[in-house]
Amino acid sequence: MLIVMQPDAGVRQAGNVLGLCEAANFRPYLSMAQGCRVIAVISEDAEFAEAVRRLPGIASVQPLGSAAKLSTRAFRSENSVVRLASNNGTPPVCIGAGSCIVMAGPCAVEDRETLLECAHRVRAAGGHMLRGGAFKPRTSPYAFQGLGLKGLELLAEAREATHLPIVTEALSVDDLPVVARYADMLQIGARNMQNFALLRAAGETGKPVLLKRGMMATLEELLLSAEYILATGNESIILCERGIRTFEPSTRNTLDIAAVPVLRHQSHLPIIVDPSHAAGRRDLVTPLALAGIAAGADGLIVEVHPNPKRALTDADQTITLEAFEDLMNRVRKIELARA
Ligand code: PEP
Ligand code: MN
Repeated sequence: MLIVMQPDAGVRQAGNVLGLCEAANFRPYLSMAQGCRVIAVISEDAEFAEAVRRLPGIASVQPLGSAAKLSTRAFRSENSVVRLASNNGTPPVCIGAGSCIVMAGPCAVEDRETLLECAHRVRAAGGHMLRGGAFKPRTSPYAFQGLGLKGLELLAEAREATHLPIVTEALSVDDLPVVARYADMLQIGARNMQNFALLRAAGETGKPVLLKRGMMATLEELLLSAEYILATGNESIILCERGIRTFEPSTRNTLDIAAVPVLRHQSHLPIIVDPSHAAGRRDLVTPLALAGIAAGADGLIVEVHPNPKRALTDADQTITLEAFEDLMNRVRKIELARA
């Protein structure tokens, strides 16, 4: 249920609600919406709702059923900002704070030289974060599966050299402890969007989570997956539209550009666009990236490589470092135009 307090209700009145939650052993989630304190409780217990209604300062107690709660604007009306604090004196990276945050790097971490070259060039071009998979979800079990721990160590080295925070995928609950030890942000891939055990465990690490939309998932399903993470008390979530499967064969997936304003309307969470996996073709990456920014996305995640044709994974959709520089210049123009 969603408990909305009256606009003039103070800390004491909210404290009464929290007291009832504690007595009933319900975890309260606190927020503000339209200037009112809001408390969400993951229960529809009628007696509890009645007891809350009798308290002073309550505006409404609304049942929310199984629909998304904590990710919605009914729970938090203001946009959430995900902050990646730095420990080396550089300013934190803030996603959802108005400017476009670009994460770029190879699909997979392949070797030291390639990764470091990507990291330096991404940074020089104005990119904000380094991406790269150490654990790769591959359709074929015979394809390159990623370097695992070695890949994480290389990412840490690239972060040290460039101060770019790193985002990398955790494929399973078993990988999480080691990935969380190295990553600044955990990526949950499209294939794992509804791996509920992984979502919970990722939330419990306390690390920011980049949650990619499943290729056959509705936006409501994406938000419900975000709820699994939010329910752990971890509020640092970024939603990612990366294209969905449709009947159209000319692109690997179909970028659902409407997802950006639809999610923006429904949710306070930051939204980024992945034009690489949506396109599946490098010639379409820049136009799709620009469309994402024009539609209001908070950022992008893009696959780049010094020699894309030789990339071990997702070669067809990977752009050169020069193309990335050009993309960044164009992104800045769209960003100015939408301001
Ligand atoms: C990736 O980012 O390389 C990846 C595997 O993405 P997705 O989960 O969106 O397919
Ligand atoms: Mn990829």
